[in-house]
Amino acid sequence: MEIINSIEEMKARSLEAIKKGMSIGFTPTMGFLHDGHLSLFRKCRRENDIVIASIFVNPIQFGPNEDLGKYPKDLEGDKAKLTSEQVDILFLPNQDELYPEEFKTTVTIRKISDKLCGQSRPTLFDGAATVVLKLLNIVRPQKAYFGEKDWQQLEVISTMVKDLNLDTEIMRVPIVRENDGLAMSSRNSYLSELERKSALSLNKALERAKSLVLQGVNDAVLIKKEIETIISKEPVTQIDYISVCNPSTFIEQRKIDQKILIALAVKVGAARLIDNCIVEKN
Ligand code: AMP
Repeated sequence: MEIINSIEEMKARSLEAIKKGMSIGFTPTMGFLHDGHLSLFRKCRRENDIVIASIFVNPIQFGPNEDLGKYPKDLEGDKAKLTSEQVDILFLPNQDELYPEEFKTTVTIRKISDKLCGQSRPTLFDGAATVVLKLLNIVRPQKAYFGEKDWQQLEVISTMVKDLNLDTEIMRVPIVRENDGLAMSSRNSYLSELERKSALSLNKALERAKSLVLQGVNDAVLIKKEIETIISKEPVTQIDYISVCNPSTFIEQRKIDQKILIALAVKVGAARLIDNCIVEKN
């Protein structure tokens, strides 16, 4: 696997591939890779001639009291995983080159960035959209791969791509879970044994909510209450939000009569975990 640090070199390498008529697939990450990331690389590998991954812990998407300083890292382990997934190029941009002192631009996707996670993390989606736009401009992929684990981020990025007429197709990959149902996340590494047990309540509550909706319960307030009861029963959990909303606008629904997103964010010890599911009534 080739490793590229410089923006100019990455641009030149992509241009060379494009000139040869090769398709480029791109998967941006913040590293500390797990099987969720690997499923993105695998889909990307199947669908493209050249597979490019990036690892960059993007400082502008973290708020002042968030976990930027202690975000987990394992570059050597990540390189081994990328190599075994047959990723061709790892782009490891340098923070000072990506954000020089005179950097002034922020991309805002209005109306959806301030909902759900955007309420408690106001800089998250502006930061993520800005870095993804920069990376797409540098790498120039035909297809870029994102996980449904970060459903709202996927909507933000897809909206940006559509609104700004970018030439990249955004590809969605389903949530990958541990055998016991916990959604895989680099932040799971923060969990103690007790916290990890409590964290299982997120998926358990989503599953319960889904089955109630499918049984015919259509009162969103009731569904949210049920989720809250299941999660708050567990020690060391602190609910940030529980949302039953439209999957594209994130507008809260009272009555469930269409395809809905059930999304939640819960602090479990020091880790802020998110999870979601889509429920479609037939
Ligand atoms: P991150 O490194 O957390 O920024 O994630 C990089 C990409 O991997 C994002 O598109 C995430 O949505 C995706 N991802 C992270 N965890 C999972 C998971 N458990 N299942 C599927 N995709 C995931």
